[in-house]
Amino acid sequence: MGGIEFSDELGRLIERASKDMEGFWGDVARELYWFQPWERVFQREKYPFFKWFVGGKTNISYNCIDHNVLNGRKDKPAILWESAERGESKILTYGQLLTEVKRFASSLRALGVKKGDRVTLYMPMVPEAAIGIFATLRIGAIYSPVFAGFGYRALADRIENAGSKVLLTSDVAYRRGTIIQLKSIADKALELVDGVEKVVVLRRGSEEPPMRRDRDLYWEEALEMGEGEHEAIPMEANEPAFILHTSGTTAKPKGTVHTHGGYQVHVYAMGKWVYGLNESDIWFCLSDIGWIVGSSYVLFGPMLVGATTVMYEGTPDYPSPDILWKIVEKHKVTKMWVSPTLIRSLMKYGEDLPLKHDLRSIKFVASAGEPLNPPAWEWLQKKVLKDRAPVVDHMWQTETGGPIVGNPYGISLLPIKPGSATIPLPGIEGDVVDERGEPLPPGIEGIFVCRKPFPGLIQTLWRDDKRYVEEYWSKIPNCYYTGDAAKRDEDGYVWFIARTDEVIKIAGHRMGTIEIESAILTHPAVAEAAVTGMPDPLRKEVVCAFVVLKGGVEPKEELKKEIIQTIRNIMGPIVVFGKLVFVTKIPKTRSGKIMRRILKSLVMDKPLGDYSTIEDPTAIEEVRRALGSNPP
Ligand code: AMP
Repeated sequence: MGGIEFSDELGRLIERASKDMEGFWGDVARELYWFQPWERVFQREKYPFFKWFVGGKTNISYNCIDHNVLNGRKDKPAILWESAERGESKILTYGQLLTEVKRFASSLRALGVKKGDRVTLYMPMVPEAAIGIFATLRIGAIYSPVFAGFGYRALADRIENAGSKVLLTSDVAYRRGTIIQLKSIADKALELVDGVEKVVVLRRGSEEPPMRRDRDLYWEEALEMGEGEHEAIPMEANEPAFILHTSGTTAKPKGTVHTHGGYQVHVYAMGKWVYGLNESDIWFCLSDIGWIVGSSYVLFGPMLVGATTVMYEGTPDYPSPDILWKIVEKHKVTKMWVSPTLIRSLMKYGEDLPLKHDLRSIKFVASAGEPLNPPAWEWLQKKVLKDRAPVVDHMWQTETGGPIVGNPYGISLLPIKPGSATIPLPGIEGDVVDERGEPLPPGIEGIFVCRKPFPGLIQTLWRDDKRYVEEYWSKIPNCYYTGDAAKRDEDGYVWFIARTDEVIKIAGHRMGTIEIESAILTHPAVAEAAVTGMPDPLRKEVVCAFVVLKGGVEPKEELKKEIIQTIRNIMGPIVVFGKLVFVTKIPKTRSGKIMRRILKSLVMDKPLGDYSTIEDPTAIEEVRRALGSNPP
């Protein structure tokens, strides 16, 4: 491989993984605790299905908590909670966390939650969210987190798909000092779905939230109901731990399913290899439990190695733009996980603010969610950290559970090339290929795929094997399809370019264009809608929407605002609009499919490529005119 030399250990790991996949993953898995050993590391079922650590019994909640308490970490801080919103902080030791988790596990049992039942969490970043997750896992139930910035429709869809019996929420959430009536949003969602029998409400505000007494109860009331202690249930490695929905190429979100066994092994292994996570770390991962990163690396990754994790409620620059640096200084944070959007949002305040703080404890920073663009990398690496600690990019997906491409700092750091996520990690047979699955030479753009399953990779979508096969294993022969276009360079580094599907990334969060279009269509004035992404300096991408109004409706500016507000109520404020333009027609194929690729090219002012299948070519001129009169 090109001019990059691997250290002996990295070379050995990569080679072992490719020659003896089972031995390689089996060795890593043995570093974790198992109630019962597995019979087979890997088992192929009918293509493309597979299983890991078949017959092995473990429990990710037990390994994150009980196991640490039993191994001398009872009094060690597990979670350092910092709420910038409330100006509060709290420390939970592993021992305290165990007590709380046991109590809440008993409450869930008293509420009728059994092994395999689903519990949706629609909660802010508070310790109770972590307790709710660990308690659910402890009793073998399946949690399903929904980001508290989602609106009622998005919440309803996710509850419905998971088929949840219990909802954990709070009366209010806080965002930049404003109060969000979370319980009221949850109530609206529950009007749209059946099946939720109990809603447990954490009280944070001073006012009574709306409560339906036959269904809703306060957190303390739930705690009072719990009886006895429930030991963690040994779970077969392939039994589900959680369902996390992510946007796909249809209006219906995909329920990715992660397991107690394989997922745990992957998160643990990559935590060590990519982040160098170990017991001595004070780890600060800036994500939310509503996203995969929140589960994998706010909670599980650091706790599986007995480290201390900082759990943060707030935005990066409220109440002051140096709040995060204050926390780093206060807790002597050793390693951080950030997104490029977060770096850019801090960069605009300049480096004087971070430099006022003692940041010498930081040894390492990882970034993911989208490519870490060179200016943002340079700012953090050179201006803030003065090259004292590496800032590395790495790539993964909700579906992969943990990193798949990265710079293996925990094994040996490779030279950093800003803008590249570095190399496929040990155990990941990543490749850049054409549509037949043939590897492409350096410099040629293709699709990034994985040629073999790995333990963190989802084994199905919740109750939708068919969609799993279609979306991930049918597009390129014998390969897991990531949906990402990429190229490799002479050194084997992977450079991610863009999504190949109908997914846009707003501030690192995946949103389906079709999901947004469906929400726009709920506005009574709208006849048709098409959505594409447009560039944004901070968030990388935001929504550009083309809307056809119903006959007789006047295209007023006010109406634009109203439509945008409707979408944000339904989907949540994470859907950020760059532009909404009214048109009288949308470019479509003769079979009626919206030509989003053409829309994107028009928005970017790029050559349109082949559009011979268009039904009405005048639609292109129409869009061009509308964009012209609405500069970004
Ligand atoms: P999500 O499942 O929401 O975490 O989004 C996963 C997607 O984010 C990937 O498929 C990529 O499109 C994108 N992504 C994540 N990390 C990176 C990165 N470091 N470089 C480029 N794209 C990334």
